[in-house]
Amino acid sequence: MVLLQRMTYCVQRLYIQQGLNIPLKMVKRHASKIALPVFTTKPKGLDVEEPSYFVDWHACVVSGGKGGDGVVSFASTRHNQFAGPDGGNGGSGGHVIFQVNENVKSLAKVPGQVAAVDGRNGAKRNSQGKSGQHTFVSVPQGTVFYSGDGEQLTCLDEPNDYYVGAHGGKGGRGNTAFATSTFVAPRIAEKGAMGEKNSLQLEMRIMADAGMVGFPNAGKSSLLRAISRARPLTSEQAFTTRSAHVGMVQYDDHEQVSVADIPGLVKGSHESKGLGFSFLRHIMKCTCLLYVLDLSSDDPWQQYEDLRHELQQYNSELMTRPHAIVGNKIDLLSSKSNFQIIQAKSDVPAFAISATEGTGIVELLIHVRKMYDTMKSSQSVNV
Ligand code: GDP
Ligand code: MG
Repeated sequence: MVLLQRMTYCVQRLYIQQGLNIPLKMVKRHASKIALPVFTTKPKGLDVEEPSYFVDWHACVVSGGKGGDGVVSFASTRHNQFAGPDGGNGGSGGHVIFQVNENVKSLAKVPGQVAAVDGRNGAKRNSQGKSGQHTFVSVPQGTVFYSGDGEQLTCLDEPNDYYVGAHGGKGGRGNTAFATSTFVAPRIAEKGAMGEKNSLQLEMRIMADAGMVGFPNAGKSSLLRAISRARPLTSEQAFTTRSAHVGMVQYDDHEQVSVADIPGLVKGSHESKGLGFSFLRHIMKCTCLLYVLDLSSDDPWQQYEDLRHELQQYNSELMTRPHAIVGNKIDLLSSKSNFQIIQAKSDVPAFAISATEGTGIVELLIHVRKMYDTMKSSQSVNV
């Protein structure tokens, strides 16, 4: 009991150090049962704040290594000047292999061109040329591969899945391979085959566990900064964030939940207004949704209805995704009364937070974790 009490005080002190005002009652309630979010104080590698970008689509040209050539060679020893053919085979070229790595969360590090190593030529004394090493490229789980003309080739869903993007060429045979009882001195050898060359398009099927949807200036980027180490740009100007960002929320049981800031949604996006479809496409890849509303605006409930309308027009399947309402800027005037209206009207969980001051963030993250756990358990039931 004493230990539990000390633990709760420690957790609370940690939050207070991080500028988050969490009531002791809440910390106590959750200390033993629920995984709590952990906020890292470790600075980013660079002093300069460089925004990080998330890449969920990538074109890549892959070429397998060329096979090594076989050689024409004849042995000649002290006792036998014509000791027969001894030309070795060439080694095979390496493959380009895409492999799932659970630590990779975006396609940002996949190179635009990947070439595997060529096989080495054969040599005299029946020496086989060395085969080229395979080149491995790490991709996130759930990467879908398309050919250059858009045909789906495969999808890497499981943690150890791999896909050979380009096979290496086979090594050529040396003249020893052509020798027969009637053809004892062949002066022929094969050239190594060229490796395959393919243009591939890679796409991440699942982008994040939770996606933040909201109109410009609702505070999505500020919230992502508050809960993770991602650094999307924030400002009072609309459309400051121009590409989707994904941050990882850490929990004290070492689980990580990815949350995406999806910018660019405006009224009429489903008719391709503003930045249009490209961002709605991202939303399709989020398993749960967080509707981020600006509580200090005139009618946040209308914002919520407009957002739902946009998503429904784009794809009605989005309506069935688990979701919650996040009312941001609770620190500003009139926000509290607006939030009460939302609570009265909505039948989904609603959270009042302040992204810049840290109010209500832990409650929100505990709920995000609950949605994540429910989703995971339903996935394992389906499997
Ligand atoms: P986004 O367009 O949804 O990504 O919004 P941003 O995160 O860029 O925030 C827009 C503006 O709202 C910025 O000037 C933020 O400083 C401000 N802002 C965000 N969260 C809060 C908050 O909780 N309280 C207050 N007072 N301002 C906030
Ligand atoms: Mg933004």
